[in-house]
Amino acid sequence: MYIVQVASECAPVIKAGGLGDVVYGLSRELEGQGHCVEIILPKYDCMRYDQVWGMHDAYRDLWVPWNGGAIHTSVYCGWVHGRLCFFIEPHSAENFFNRGHYYGGLDDHMRFAFFSKAALEFLLKSNKRPDIIHCHDWQTGMLPAMLYEMYSHHGMNSQRVCYTVHNFKHQGVAGADVLWATGLNNDAYYYQYDRLQDNFNPTAINFMKAGIVYANYTNTVSPHHAWEARYSDISCGLGHTLEVHNKKFGGILNGVDYEVWNPETDKHIPHNYGATSFDKKAKNKAALRERLLLRDVDRPIVAYIGRLDDQKGVHLVHHAIYYAIANNAQFVLLGSATASHIGSWFWHEKQNLNDNPDCHLELGFNEELSHLIYAGADIMVVPSNYEPCGLTQILGLRYGTVPVVRGVGGLVNTVFDRDHDKDHAPEKRNGYVFHQTDNHALESALNRAIGLWHDYPKEFEQLALQGMEYDYSWSTPGEQYLGVYDHIRC
Ligand code: ADP
Repeated sequence: MYIVQVASECAPVIKAGGLGDVVYGLSRELEGQGHCVEIILPKYDCMRYDQVWGMHDAYRDLWVPWNGGAIHTSVYCGWVHGRLCFFIEPHSAENFFNRGHYYGGLDDHMRFAFFSKAALEFLLKSNKRPDIIHCHDWQTGMLPAMLYEMYSHHGMNSQRVCYTVHNFKHQGVAGADVLWATGLNNDAYYYQYDRLQDNFNPTAINFMKAGIVYANYTNTVSPHHAWEARYSDISCGLGHTLEVHNKKFGGILNGVDYEVWNPETDKHIPHNYGATSFDKKAKNKAALRERLLLRDVDRPIVAYIGRLDDQKGVHLVHHAIYYAIANNAQFVLLGSATASHIGSWFWHEKQNLNDNPDCHLELGFNEELSHLIYAGADIMVVPSNYEPCGLTQILGLRYGTVPVVRGVGGLVNTVFDRDHDKDHAPEKRNGYVFHQTDNHALESALNRAIGLWHDYPKEFEQLALQGMEYDYSWSTPGEQYLGVYDHIRC
């Protein structure tokens, strides 16, 4: 099969969170199974050019119809750790992708509507006719609408779209200016409830709704989150749309790229180890302490890695820091804030805790350091308010770092409480789960994890080893996506 992924991220060249990991990992898996995969991305000024090999012109003078005129665009091509990627660079006064950041512009809806249109125009003009176009998140939600309403009339009528929602919170709600800019010139037609009209704001269109309505199949990134999306308010107003389209909606658990994330071969950690050489994990703990200037004491390291965002339960992350250091543990945090008030809050905490030898807060994005933390920490805390899939608990499991998670979304599908899980035999349990969003709930689980580490070290190690046995690679989800592609293709 010939598959084109269209996304706003692909790790490690463009990564703000799990979306980047998924686009890369899934593509590698599909290629490994013999399929042809290409990836179309924006060419941001701030992406990691050191992660692209052999960048060259792929299409120099692409004129993308836009706002009644056309924007002169170049498409570059290069390999990102073996994956063939195309990078879209518009040459216009708006400087869509030269802003020093991936997201956060007031005109993000225009930037990514343009990106989606440019991706289609590139496929059309370069005579690429994939079997499947796989779109991700709101940024590419307009693509299936434009494909069906416009490009199918220009010869692209056998392309089928799989649309994956990684996070319902960001939907891309915009005005009619997007319709005029993209050439979907029929407001009355698109501003209908069963097409692009936002479910709650009748004067707006909704990119994610467009994706769900027009794609041939839509999924979110875990079975439990798919259930939550249909039966709770977690889909942020799209519940009815999912109900209407429920026959083409499902949940596929994300995988993790076990080539990139493998403690036995990981180049970012000083001491490789596996289940049979688990004692070497302690050396990574020592290296982590040395790097972050933590003292060497007989305590577990509790870690948090992730965006500092309301979604992630920042108030509980904050509480976990103080709870851990007051209860015979150390704490390491690696996170970048997504809102300025959260950023200043954690900078303030960082200053407060600066001289504490049991705690280190690293504020920013650091891929390499994240590997050392997964390897060196004992416990990984994931107290999310909601979590479509969550990768940090899966990565924790892979590195023998016991997850302590809130029981929502994909965390329910991946972590099974050592003491209370009813569906898994004791030897299949792999972490700790709590349910409520208050401090006591977090404490009830974190306390059990820290207590086991201190009082029953052999059992704690056994729990970590049980976690390492789980296979959360792309192999199963890869098969599931192929099943979907096969089902929808012509
Ligand atoms: P998200 O909601 O951000 O997609 P996930 O848990 O699905 O959360 O994926 C997070 C991914 O991003 C993981 O690979 C994690 O290691 C990585 N990550 C998050 N924040 C940082 C950071 N500050 N530095 C390095 N890696 C990070």
